[in-house]
Amino acid sequence: MKKNLSDKTAIVTGATRGIGAAISRELLAHGCNVIITGTSERCESKGKNANSRYLQLDFLDIKSIKKFIDLINKMARIDILINNAGINKIEPIYEINDENWKKILQVNLTGPMCLSKEISRKMVKKHRGKILNISSIFGTIAREKRDSYSASKAGLLGLTRAMALDLAPYGILVNALCPGYTDTKLTRTVLSKNEIFELSKQIPLGRLAKVEEIAKAAVFLCSDDNTYITGQTITIDGGISIK
Ligand code: NDP
Repeated sequence: MKKNLSDKTAIVTGATRGIGAAISRELLAHGCNVIITGTSERCESKGKNANSRYLQLDFLDIKSIKKFIDLINKMARIDILINNAGINKIEPIYEINDENWKKILQVNLTGPMCLSKEISRKMVKKHRGKILNISSIFGTIAREKRDSYSASKAGLLGLTRAMALDLAPYGILVNALCPGYTDTKLTRTVLSKNEIFELSKQIPLGRLAKVEEIAKAAVFLCSDDNTYITGQTITIDGGISIK
């Protein structure tokens, strides 16, 4: 069903591709104004929409974070923040590279905290807003060699619940989505074709998620249709985590 988001402005981090790009497309389809971010200075993607604007944001570059925060602090309002940007590195605990650990925690957990801190200040003044954190099934279940990633995504779920309590008095709803295996560049970087084939056989619904399936749930949680869900984690994984 069509939602009217034409009076809303959203930020979607890491929206140059994959899940973030799908969430942006879905928000735009419902009339929302969308600020999308990526690590490059310029966004090369074609088919730009008049209601979308690209801003650079690299959580591994302090100057980039500061510049981005300065820009959004000048904006009159941000109604929706979707902390989607994320990275992964497959390493077992006995081989974790300290730099990789720091980078994963910085992009997947500290970055969302910094943005939520800045943007919730704006939302608190207006007594409205929605924040959605894109975590992962590996925030609640585990698989070998996902130590750093799992730690960051579990941390994001804890942050979601605490933020939801801090912001509830101001009518701001904070939730998390935990996608399972989703067909994106990130997945195809960490898993081979054969691994994806074998994995699909273990997923009760028999396939990876499509990015649009994650995007639709994200837009519902951030729309005016969601008036009472806060502090929750919704898992979209084709049933793999219930086995
Ligand atoms: P992709 O790898 O396809 O896209 C990642 C996005 O994050 C890109 O837009 C990228 O920007 C941005 N990004 C990368 N590094 C940084 C950084 N240092 N600072 C800021 N932004 C950065 O990821 P997916 O679409 O697959 O995943 C999106 C989210 O969903 C992530 O948080 C991921 O952990 C989570 N997730 C994904 C699953 C999957 O199966 N794919 C499953 C469960 C959760 P740029 O292109 O400019 O580098």
